[in-house]
Amino acid sequence: MADRGSVELNSEECKGCGLCVEACPPKVLKLSARFNQYGYHPAEYTGAGCTGCGICFFACPEPGGITVLRLAA
Ligand code: SF4
Ligand code: SF4
Repeated sequence: MADRGSVELNSEECKGCGLCVEACPPKVLKLSARFNQYGYHPAEYTGAGCTGCGICFFACPEPGGITVLRLAA
Protein backbone atom coordinates (compact mmCIF):
# COMPACT_ATOMS: atom_id res chain seq x y z
CA MET A 1 0.00 0.00 0.00
CA ALA A 2 1.32 3.46 -0.85
CA ASP A 3 2.29 5.77 1.97
CA ARG A 4 -0.40 8.27 3.01
CA GLY A 5 2.08 10.98 3.77
CA SER A 6 5.60 12.25 3.58
CA VAL A 7 7.69 14.78 5.47
CA GLU A 8 10.24 17.36 4.47
CA LEU A 9 12.70 18.17 7.23
CA ASN A 10 14.62 21.42 7.11
CA SER A 11 17.90 20.19 8.54
CA GLU A 12 19.39 23.68 8.81
CA GLU A 13 16.55 24.78 11.15
CA CYS A 14 16.72 21.63 13.27
CA LYS A 15 18.19 21.72 16.78
CA GLY A 16 18.43 17.95 17.07
CA CYS A 17 16.13 17.81 20.09
CA GLY A 18 14.66 14.48 18.99
CA LEU A 19 11.08 15.36 19.99
CA CYS A 20 9.78 14.49 16.53
CA VAL A 21 11.67 11.20 16.55
CA GLU A 22 10.05 10.25 19.86
CA ALA A 23 6.60 11.51 18.87
CA CYS A 24 6.28 9.78 15.49
CA PRO A 25 3.88 6.81 15.94
CA PRO A 26 5.33 4.59 13.16
CA LYS A 27 8.91 5.62 14.12
CA VAL A 28 9.95 6.71 10.65
CA LEU A 29 12.15 9.62 11.79
CA LYS A 30 15.71 9.41 13.10
CA LEU A 31 18.57 11.71 13.98
CA SER A 32 21.23 11.92 11.31
CA ALA A 33 24.83 10.96 11.98
CA ARG A 34 25.98 14.16 10.28
CA PHE A 35 26.02 17.69 11.73
CA ASN A 36 24.14 20.73 10.45
CA GLN A 37 25.42 24.32 10.44
CA TYR A 38 24.72 24.69 14.17
CA GLY A 39 26.53 21.49 15.10
CA TYR A 40 23.37 19.49 15.81
CA HIS A 41 22.43 16.09 14.48
CA PRO A 42 19.33 16.95 12.43
CA ALA A 43 16.27 14.76 12.20
CA GLU A 44 15.70 13.00 8.90
CA TYR A 45 13.02 10.86 7.32
CA THR A 46 13.89 7.22 6.88
CA GLY A 47 12.07 7.44 3.55
CA ALA A 48 8.99 5.27 3.94
CA GLY A 49 6.02 4.62 6.22
CA CYS A 50 4.84 8.17 7.01
CA THR A 51 1.08 8.35 7.56
CA GLY A 52 0.80 12.13 7.25
CA CYS A 53 -0.57 12.35 10.81
CA GLY A 54 1.18 15.66 11.51
CA ILE A 55 2.25 14.79 15.06
CA CYS A 56 5.90 15.56 14.33
CA PHE A 57 4.93 19.01 13.07
CA PHE A 58 3.19 19.82 16.36
CA ALA A 59 6.02 18.31 18.41
CA CYS A 60 8.74 20.41 16.75
CA PRO A 61 9.64 23.65 18.57
CA GLU A 62 11.37 25.10 15.51
CA PRO A 63 9.17 27.09 13.11
CA GLY A 64 9.75 25.75 9.64
CA GLY A 65 11.55 22.66 10.86
CA ILE A 66 9.05 20.18 9.51
CA THR A 67 6.59 20.21 6.63
CA VAL A 68 4.07 17.35 6.47
CA LEU A 69 2.64 16.33 3.12
CA ARG A 70 -0.57 14.37 2.87
CA LEU A 71 -0.60 12.28 -0.26
CA ALA A 72 -3.65 11.35 -2.27
CA ALA A 73 -4.57 7.68 -2.05
S1 SF4 B 1 3.55 12.96 9.84
FE1 SF4 B 1 3.23 11.38 11.45
S2 SF4 B 1 3.96 9.48 10.54
FE2 SF4 B 1 4.77 11.14 9.27
S3 SF4 B 1 6.85 11.52 10.10
FE3 SF4 B 1 5.39 12.94 11.13
S4 SF4 B 1 4.76 11.90 13.03
FE4 SF4 B 1 5.70 10.36 11.67
S1 SF4 C 1 11.45 18.25 16.75
FE1 SF4 C 1 12.19 19.74 15.21
S2 SF4 C 1 14.09 20.58 16.10
FE2 SF4 C 1 13.61 18.68 17.23
S3 SF4 C 1 14.75 17.05 16.14
FE3 SF4 C 1 12.69 17.14 15.22
S4 SF4 C 1 12.88 18.54 13.43
FE4 SF4 C 1 14.66 18.86 14.78
